[in-house]
Amino acid sequence: MDPPNIERLDEQTVQRIAAGEVVERPASVVKELIENSLDAGASRIAVAVEAGGTAGIRVRDDGVGIAEDQLEAAVAEHATSKIGDIDDLDRGVSTLGFRGEALYTVGAVSRLTVRSRPPDADAGAEITVDGGDIGEIRPAGCPAGTTVEVEDLFFNTPARKKFLKRTATEFDHVNTVATSYALANPDVAVSLEHAGRETFATEGNGDLRSAVLAVYGREVAESMIDVEWTPGDDEIDGSAESAETLESDDAQPVARVTGLVSHPETTRSTREYLSTYVNGRYVTASALRDATLQAYGGQLAPDRYPFAVLFVEVPPGDVDVNVHPRKLEVRFDEEPAVRSAVETAVESALLDHGLIRSTAPRG
Ligand code: ADP
Ligand code: MG
Repeated sequence: MDPPNIERLDEQTVQRIAAGEVVERPASVVKELIENSLDAGASRIAVAVEAGGTAGIRVRDDGVGIAEDQLEAAVAEHATSKIGDIDDLDRGVSTLGFRGEALYTVGAVSRLTVRSRPPDADAGAEITVDGGDIGEIRPAGCPAGTTVEVEDLFFNTPARKKFLKRTATEFDHVNTVATSYALANPDVAVSLEHAGRETFATEGNGDLRSAVLAVYGREVAESMIDVEWTPGDDEIDGSAESAETLESDDAQPVARVTGLVSHPETTRSTREYLSTYVNGRYVTASALRDATLQAYGGQLAPDRYPFAVLFVEVPPGDVDVNVHPRKLEVRFDEEPAVRSAVETAVESALLDHGLIRSTAPRG
């Protein structure tokens, strides 16, 4: 057999392969669009999907908007308003996005419309991208803010389209994403609609318990207890054993753990209701879920899992969020310390409410 020729892929193929790295399914699009709305300072974000997002996705916000002459840049490759260079990234980014690739890649594998009007602009404008072809900018009547519509996701990448699951499964993923951002941002009114029916709508009044009520319902909201812990809290309790623990590990990689966890009897059969956030970002860190479960001691029935909405704050330099474009994973410099902080925080909340028994000295 002759050795093969090595050829450079054409632009369009490169574009579609790259898109597949970021956009795996409708829920990944919803994630990117919600993050953009949050970065734009929105106080209301309305998400609506059709057929689990496979047929259509619309995210509307009341954020700063995109000026007409910036619309083309917004959908262009590697174009972002959020960082200027690598030094900005090293200093730590406060926005959820920074790669400037979401709208570009979504536009490569769907029919994308971005319609926007900055609050003080007289008129709105829109731009359409059809499978990577950027169209003309047209005037559009619209409220202040931005609406992004994505239709026919993966219409030009049949291989990826084939991997989409049933509508119900895709919608589950969309719901998980929308829920996690709604809980992380109780000061933003987030709503989700599937095929014209409202799934949930948070009030955006800044109260986490009220957001939990909107997404999980009354029974769960009423069973939630507050977690509020900063390193050193145990010392204030005057507990000698905890003071020793603090002395023995001088590094304090965790600044704070706050949020809500459910009563040990308010559970479900999967771990998916254990939501953890690091510096405001939703992460799927099994270490943090495990630490939360650990704190319940023997109080959970076999194969039952509580609800939790936990925010862990660590110094920005101690966590790497630049691990993967989908950014659901993080790397901690000191994972064992973060784990133990989460466990201690949940444990002391449960202890305070008499929901677990005090065990052997911690540490
Ligand atoms: P990134 O978020 O990484 O900058 P995106 O491709 O997601 O990249 O968005 C490109 C740019 O378009 C953003 O930097 C921002 O300036 C603008 N943009 C996107 N979505 C919105 C929105 N909902 N409101 C205002 N500006 C937006
Ligand atoms: Mg973005």
